[in-house]
Amino acid sequence: MEDVYPCLTRSREVRHYLSDIGFSPSKSMGQNFLIDANMRDLILDASGVGSEDMAVEIGPGLGVMTEGLMERAKHVTAIELDFRLAEHLQQRFSERRNLTLLNQDATKTDWEAFVRPDPVRVISNLPYSVGSRILYDLADPALAPVSITVMLQSDVADRMLAAPASDLYGLLTVRMSWAYEISRVRNVPGNCFLPPPRVGSSVVHLERRTQAPAEVNDYATLEKLSRFAFTKRRKQLKSILKSFGTPMDDGPVDLTRRPETLNLEEWAALSNAVSGADKG
Ligand code: SAM
Repeated sequence: MEDVYPCLTRSREVRHYLSDIGFSPSKSMGQNFLIDANMRDLILDASGVGSEDMAVEIGPGLGVMTEGLMERAKHVTAIELDFRLAEHLQQRFSERRNLTLLNQDATKTDWEAFVRPDPVRVISNLPYSVGSRILYDLADPALAPVSITVMLQSDVADRMLAAPASDLYGLLTVRMSWAYEISRVRNVPGNCFLPPPRVGSSVVHLERRTQAPAEVNDYATLEKLSRFAFTKRRKQLKSILKSFGTPMDDGPVDLTRRPETLNLEEWAALSNAVSGADKG
């Protein structure tokens, strides 16, 4: 095959390219390749990646965004699960000095290894089946990268942006909005991908908060409590706290309320009461 790469942002050329390299996309690995240059640029621009940044790309696929990232960032680490793609990219970008390619599963990545003095920005057209899991892992306040800019299913974006008391407000909302200011950059039509995904897509940008939204004595308690509570979202807090092992008659919020009604400040207050009760 020639060492000249076609424009991988046009459907016909991506099809030819895939057939040239003998590759058929895997559904289970969520291989819906971005074939729209405007959307690629929109994600790169929204990410704010610049020459001082360490970019981490999850699922580089055919390398369409990776190329743009290498031009903008100080260094790019790309994590690709599919060894066929990882090997292919390794060859294709063998001359590039600011790329580290890891053939690994981003759901098993040790994100602690990515905490750096240089700002770390995560960019991805996420594999949808594991997208929310990866985002949840990244939003650990002790590790959280300064920004995350991702393409994901619109319904996951809706969940992250949901307001308290709505049906979509849940564990992902609390976890992500505790660490990040979240904005939807835009919704993206299916014809921007090859093959098109069966669900709606959105680009979302998350910028790490400079300050926690409320004071919490022990974030681990907040995480454990909210994780537990949202498995029982129809129950009242009083009964949830009892089964969590920290029964209370009164709390900093009305305990007849349900977990989906608590805003971040109220979650922090409840968590502080629980960690206080643990100590007592
Ligand atoms: N970035 C490319 C693009 O925009 O065209 C590909 C995006 S495609 C939606 C998702 C990519 O994530 C695929 O390359 C897929 O092989 C990879 N992938 C799937 N599961 C993964 C995982 N657990 N860890 C890392 N990469 C994964």
